[in-house]
Amino acid sequence: MKKLITALALATTIAVPIQAAPLAVQVHASSINDLAKQDSYGGVTYADNMLAQEGIKYNSFAENAIPYRNGKPEGIVIHETATPNATAHDEAIYFNREWKNIYAYVHAFVDKTGVIQMMSPDSGTWGAGPQANDRFIQVELCEENNAADFAKGVNNDAIYAAALLHHYGLQPDNAVHDGQGTIWSHHAVSQYLGGTDHTDPDGYFAKWGYTMDDFYNLVKYYYDNQNGTTADNNSTTNTPANKPSDKPATNKPAATLPKPTGTKTLMHDALVYDENGDTTSAATKTAGTKLTLYGYKTIAGRKYLQIGLNQFVVASNVDGKLRKVKHNAYLYNANGYRIGKGKLYRRTYIRTYGGRVKIAGHKYYQIDVNEFVKVGNF
Ligand SMILES: [Zn+2]
Repeated sequence: MKKLITALALATTIAVPIQAAPLAVQVHASSINDLAKQDSYGGVTYADNMLAQEGIKYNSFAENAIPYRNGKPEGIVIHETATPNATAHDEAIYFNREWKNIYAYVHAFVDKTGVIQMMSPDSGTWGAGPQANDRFIQVELCEENNAADFAKGVNNDAIYAAALLHHYGLQPDNAVHDGQGTIWSHHAVSQYLGGTDHTDPDGYFAKWGYTMDDFYNLVKYYYDNQNGTTADNNSTTNTPANKPSDKPATNKPAATLPKPTGTKTLMHDALVYDENGDTTSAATKTAGTKLTLYGYKTIAGRKYLQIGLNQFVVASNVDGKLRKVKHNAYLYNANGYRIGKGKLYRRTYIRTYGGRVKIAGHKYYQIDVNEFVKVGNF
């Protein structure tokens, strides 16, 4: 799906750091898959959670979601965003804001860091025209600037696609040569089903010497691989109740790490606990640290997030809790000094992280990495 308003999309990407120029030398496709297999999965982040954390309203697509003609998806269409330098995060924010204006929406955006799932793949979106929208899950791959990052992107894309096939009881079957199967390109939809004329992701793949056949092989590899290693998922990958998006089961003591579910920024200094809820000798994690997350675990009635092998932090340090502001309130830094002239207005809701903290004799709730509001204002 090419951007209809590329200029607008680019406007959302100004904060993206300048990246290295594309490699002049093309890397052979087989080595892209070899590179990819060495990368770890970035996991799935859910757009509604992610946007809530950022204070952005989630514009649900639910009322426009398209029921699948057979009641469940028949496969996956692989897209490419055709928007250089836009990350999955940029695209998620752009599509969340603009889908009503651009008449386009997809299930997920994928880049080198992971997958952002916009909505449940249990119903269809506006990804590839009327023939495909009521049959297939629509997944957009974002553009990267070098072969190593491209490999990370297709790796995340292939692992996500393989998990979706398992989840919906579908077999891997390359559709790009005969118009039949479960792994489609947007180009193949144009060619065999019509109703759309895009040719992605072929052109972008070609830039890296890569093809849909190479991508299919990577999906097949992970499909077979996941089939053999469902032990950490209670072997229920095919049951509809267990969404591919579900957090890995962490009820058992984790002898090995589950697959990561995503990364998030720690918003409040946090002690590191073990699986019994006892503090460990690991150093306190400080606010602002980027954590790789491995799912939730409730220990003695308290909700934790796993951050490593037998390492947990209290989930509210990451997820926070919405609280209503009762009085207009000033913002303070970690030293108790007022930050700028900004304030929070009464009757608004703000997310606070972790427990109360005491700064120079006053009690505060933390609302961002270095922003605090006095407890009395809530
Ligand atoms: Zn497309």
